[in-house]
Amino acid sequence: MKRFDVVVVGGGGTGVAAAIGARAAGASVLLLEKNPSLGGTTARSIGSISATQTADQRRVGISDTPAEHLEDMEKFSQHHADRPDNNELARVLCEHVPESVRLLEEWGAVFMGPMDEPPHRKPRMHQIMPNSAAYIFHAEKHARKIGVEIFTSARAQQLLTANGEVTGVEIELDGRVETMEATKGVILASGDYAADPGFKAQFVSEAVAATEAVNPTNTGDGHRMALDLGARIINPDMYGGGMRFVRPLTPAWQSRLPPSAWLMRVCNRVMRHAPRSLVRHFIMGFMTTVMVPERKLFHNGAILINARGERFADETQSMVFELALQPDGVGYILCDARVAQKFTQWPDYVSTAPGVAFAYLQDYERTRPDLVRRGNTLEDVAKVLGMDAVELKRTVAAYNQGVGPPGRGERPAVGEGPYVVLGPVKNYINYTDGGLAINAGLQVLGKNDVPIPRLYAAGATGQGGLLLKGHGNHIGWGFTSGRLAGQYAAALAPRT
Ligand SMILES: Cc1cc2nc3c(=O)[nH]c(=O)nc-3n(C[C@H](O)[C@H](O)[C@H](O)COP(=O)(O)OP(=O)(O)OC[C@H]3O[C@@H](n4cnc5c(N)ncnc54)[C@H](O)[C@@H]3O)c2cc1C
Repeated sequence: MKRFDVVVVGGGGTGVAAAIGARAAGASVLLLEKNPSLGGTTARSIGSISATQTADQRRVGISDTPAEHLEDMEKFSQHHADRPDNNELARVLCEHVPESVRLLEEWGAVFMGPMDEPPHRKPRMHQIMPNSAAYIFHAEKHARKIGVEIFTSARAQQLLTANGEVTGVEIELDGRVETMEATKGVILASGDYAADPGFKAQFVSEAVAATEAVNPTNTGDGHRMALDLGARIINPDMYGGGMRFVRPLTPAWQSRLPPSAWLMRVCNRVMRHAPRSLVRHFIMGFMTTVMVPERKLFHNGAILINARGERFADETQSMVFELALQPDGVGYILCDARVAQKFTQWPDYVSTAPGVAFAYLQDYERTRPDLVRRGNTLEDVAKVLGMDAVELKRTVAAYNQGVGPPGRGERPAVGEGPYVVLGPVKNYINYTDGGLAINAGLQVLGKNDVPIPRLYAAGATGQGGLLLKGHGNHIGWGFTSGRLAGQYAAALAPRT
């Protein structure tokens, strides 16, 4: 058995922030991560964070306040009028996220922005450079520097209790079961259950359960451990997801550069003055995440086919659940010459990373050639993709005649080549929004909503009914709630 003041479960942005928060407040801290390295969904995200009163806002003369941020967040959550938002936690986020961004910068992070995102009335979205892996790079470095102990490949499997209080965590490390005692508290920061078919089927639907997650290792472990102690999950059926291009087999060289603060500061300066086309290419190369094809492609006459060359669903839906059920769960976007030409310039971009980069067909050809195939005829396309040409031609003919599944409606027919095929695309669940019920002190609520002594939850695990709509609020909540949970746990008197 090992003994620490605070034990943190999960090494994404939330967990590292929690560990730093507790350590900076004087506690001895153990951070547990079940994967071989820290990162979680945080390191696979786009990487935007929304905050007010930042150095970047001041640089461009924006005067902004947490109170305005809070009011604007409510405008986003009006789309979910059927669900009450957790205004208390939203206030915690808006008041404390400026300090989270300040600290991230102190640890070495460099942001681009601020960028507009209506209905935010002022630009407050910031994009970490060069990509979201930089959150973990800088936070982990700082955590190690101040003396946080980090165990990787260490999976927490059960909370330990005595006299109704949480006393530690049982973990699996190198095939052995070990006990980590926490004299002050345990913080659950184990992300969401986007990759847990059981929870997804129970709370959302079988279709979502069958859809893979961007982060395949977030299996709701923290949620489950807390449920065992009488906790509950709020908004368990909410999630974010959709169709995305698959990740490159070998990441671009830029994305493997260390995100050193000085290099990113130089890049940031250059990018403020460089032509947008150059910036776009630069940013696309850095993207560690999977990009989303615009649905506008389909409205303009592109069609979604499977690896057999068949159309199988209405490709204009916000979530084409049928995609997960196709061979290998993949699809391809077939564009005729007209569509391909159209998506080479504004406003017809193939994909975007919010406010940062608009990527056109030629950007994909240059930076993601693995996702672009060409063919003069449908026979050529079928050959390149290893499909049956007769089936592909039948699919296109049926679509053009308005035959399902479902018919093409008002959409243009697939016309002449040369054709361009984009893909593979897959469906992914990005995150689930069901978080444990917590109070404003980040304590997990148990039976009758009474706090479970010495148990905290933060980030996705402790989302507590917050509707984090818009961009940049999930990561904002992760770093902010994590940091505060760490401080609160460290402030407790140790168990005697
Ligand atoms: C493609 C994509 C783009 C996104 N873009 C944005 C964006 O731009 N802005 C934004 O705000 N949000 C974005 N999000 C959402 C955001 O990334 C997440 O909500 C947020 O990072 C969650 O942080 P976290 O630390 O709570 O969880 P995570 O980062 O997932 O960390 C949880 C960690 O806990 C570990 N863990 C789990 N179980 C155990 C266990 N039993 N023992 C030990 N360790 C365990 C996991 O392995 C993981 O490393 C995006 C998500 C995706 C998928």
